[in-house]
Amino acid sequence: MEAALQFERQRILAARGWENDPDRRKVVRELLSERLRLAYLWSYAKHRGRDRAVERTRTALLRTAHTLGQIPDGSSFLSWLFFELRRAGGPAGSRISSSGCPEPWRITALAERALPSKDLDQHIDHCGACRHLLDDYRFFLSDAHDPALVERSSWPRAVEDLERFLEGYFGDAPHAEITGKRSLRDRLPLLRLSGSRLIAAGVVTIAATGVLLMLTQNLRQRDHLAQRPRDGSTLKQVTKVAPPIGPRLEHMDGVSASRNGEQLIFSWREFTGADRYRVTFFSAKLDTLHRSAPLRATDYQVPVAQLREFVPGASYLYKIEAMRETEPLGTSGFVPFGQ
Ligand SMILES: [Zn+2]
Repeated sequence: MEAALQFERQRILAARGWENDPDRRKVVRELLSERLRLAYLWSYAKHRGRDRAVERTRTALLRTAHTLGQIPDGSSFLSWLFFELRRAGGPAGSRISSSGCPEPWRITALAERALPSKDLDQHIDHCGACRHLLDDYRFFLSDAHDPALVERSSWPRAVEDLERFLEGYFGDAPHAEITGKRSLRDRLPLLRLSGSRLIAAGVVTIAATGVLLMLTQNLRQRDHLAQRPRDGSTLKQVTKVAPPIGPRLEHMDGVSASRNGEQLIFSWREFTGADRYRVTFFSAKLDTLHRSAPLRATDYQVPVAQLREFVPGASYLYKIEAMRETEPLGTSGFVPFGQ
């Protein structure tokens, strides 16, 4: 793997688990923030409307953040974001490749790197779907090149909008208590292992710590720069927002939600160790519109009429949490609600 891709891979690994760690939120925010222009302009070229393009970009940004763990080793972050953008367009965009085709990221890699591959070239010659995918990705990389389109797209306004959105999700929570920062060691997941597995775990931990150290040092340096007073006076007190205290929450997979007439229907996979679940439904601004009682089942229905201010077609988010009694074990994070 070449160096640039490898470095990006390290950033992706460092961003995973951002749901429970402010330092990691900074990394994921940075990764997404660097790609806003490409994502927005491509969406604008598809919709020719600012609001819908912003909407689609937001959905793809969130999905990308929640699927960091699924990015294959050889795939670039940008390719992954591109796939999520296509998926965010609805069911038509979600069929990215058909059976018999190479994985989509191998196709898009052709536009990013000069990887000579006879097999891929031959496949593309004969497969319209993959050729179309590659063309679309090249168009995406070209910054949606038509200058008139860029002009019309009101990008300067859209970027403000999107940066605010990222700040809302991945910025430091303003309501968190202000205390000293916990040490890096405290923030590493607890290892409950014994015997020879401990040695293996040790090796993994050392490797992971290396990456984390590199990244947190980088972030700290930037914090330092940001906090350095311009008038030359000394900074008396540096306050830091503490990461959430408590057990690390696992990510819940297999969650889904849909609207069926007058009912919203949620379902999720059983979560090992959990004996109850909770569903929370939010507006796009993260106001809570509905919060379920603790649930034993792995699905839940709520009549639309019970939600405050539900508007069909507007954008919403939901979150599923898994608990053992009152102790939280897992969370889906914020998931965009598709209607
Ligand atoms: Zn194909």
